[in-house]
Amino acid sequence: MSLIVQKFGGSSVADAESIKRVAKRIIETRKAGHDVVVVVSAMGDTTDELADLAHQVTPMPDPREFDMLLTSGERISMALLAMAIRSQGYSAQSFTGSQAGMITDSRHGAARIVDVTPGRILDSLREGNIAIVAGFQGFSRESRDITTLGRGGSDTTAVALAAALDAAVCEIYTDVDGIFTSDPRVVPMARKIDRITSEEMLELAAAGAKVLHIRAVEYARRHGVTLHVRSSFSNAEGTLVINETAEQYAARIARESTTSEDGTVEEPIISGIATDLSEAKITVVGVPDVRGKAAAIFNVVAGAGANVDMIVQNVSAAATGLTDISFTLPKADGQKVIAALTADQPVIGFQSLQYDDQIGKLALVGAGMRTNTGVSANFFEALSIAGINIEMISTSEIRISVVTRADSLQTAAQAVHTAFGLDGDAEAVVYAGTGR
Ligand code: ADP
Ligand code: ASP
Ligand code: MG
Repeated sequence: MSLIVQKFGGSSVADAESIKRVAKRIIETRKAGHDVVVVVSAMGDTTDELADLAHQVTPMPDPREFDMLLTSGERISMALLAMAIRSQGYSAQSFTGSQAGMITDSRHGAARIVDVTPGRILDSLREGNIAIVAGFQGFSRESRDITTLGRGGSDTTAVALAAALDAAVCEIYTDVDGIFTSDPRVVPMARKIDRITSEEMLELAAAGAKVLHIRAVEYARRHGVTLHVRSSFSNAEGTLVINETAEQYAARIARESTTSEDGTVEEPIISGIATDLSEAKITVVGVPDVRGKAAAIFNVVAGAGANVDMIVQNVSAAATGLTDISFTLPKADGQKVIAALTADQPVIGFQSLQYDDQIGKLALVGAGMRTNTGVSANFFEALSIAGINIEMISTSEIRISVVTRADSLQTAAQAVHTAFGLDGDAEAVVYAGTGR
């Protein structure tokens, strides 16, 4: 008998009927003879609604109280799910993150797991229960406060428990049939991927594919947890995220590649496309082109606690000796970074700041890119034919990202998806959720 961790996202438990349906599914796993630990998210868009409520009370909610508020969402769904399972004749107990031993540091809204001590979960399993754990939350020994792991963090709770309990697999149940070549809400012709490497999934998640929380993928890779993403609305096979090294990847591709008639090996070069509308762009205009200015600017940005993604510095105009530096960051961090830079404007000596929250980010990801030279050319060609203007570009070994206008992001994604031959045979099914 093995232990399985199953995580159900918000859209899978959006209402009473869904909770009963999920309960049935969990019981089936129990009946098959497995121990089951369930991690559950808040119902539907509850977390967003609670956040909206907080912002109606105050524009800058206190981080401690904000975490207290948001964690209440998972408390509702965990208790209802336990009740539903009990009413169907199986024993279940729900636990908050802190009862389940999810110990974190004390960073509200972005806490990191420092220890997992699931003693109570093990006791509950030993007593024959299905254990239900509230996702996305933990407890800091340092501050003795309740923390959250960041939006989408229930995936990470599930992986951390799977690692601590040495589970056979960590199943992530959501509102689509698995991981697709692109977000099916943006690119309806997206194709389901059967297996994806954790390296590729990390790049997709980093580029905004919220189907998996990036830290869940990192944690799973580090601890050798097998992730299986699938729909709670169907019995489709889903997607396995496999932990393999670049060498193992190359060996597998060599085995799996098809050899075409002229004897050349055709590798799957691209694994997918990610889109992201959650970022904004700040341009620091008229920065003196002398040593130390970039450091000064990004020290201020880091001090404000923002994670910068893409950075572009223009060539300075010879006549003025001034340059512009643009960077992207989460919209949620925009105002505090503008405030921090404005405060330091006299010291850094730039002329002005521009804030643009109408940008979209598109990333093309594929492990095969590192050995294939034509990818960037095809990518830019496809965007040009689709009439998309590119505002920023950045690359890694297995990714190319661009910034476009927000309202042309979907057209851009669909064009690139088609250009790289990623389109499936039929439209992907989106079972539920609002995409919020
Ligand atoms: P949950 O509430 O189950 O955690 P999320 O909304 O966090 O669900 O994640 C599932 C959503 O992720 C899908 O409905 C889809 O819109 C989006 N998504 C983004 N990129 C992808 C992708 N490459 N494959 C599948 N889904 C994706
Ligand atoms: N409920 C939290 C959120 O919406 C955590 C999660 O669903 O993973 O971000
Ligand atoms: Mg999620």
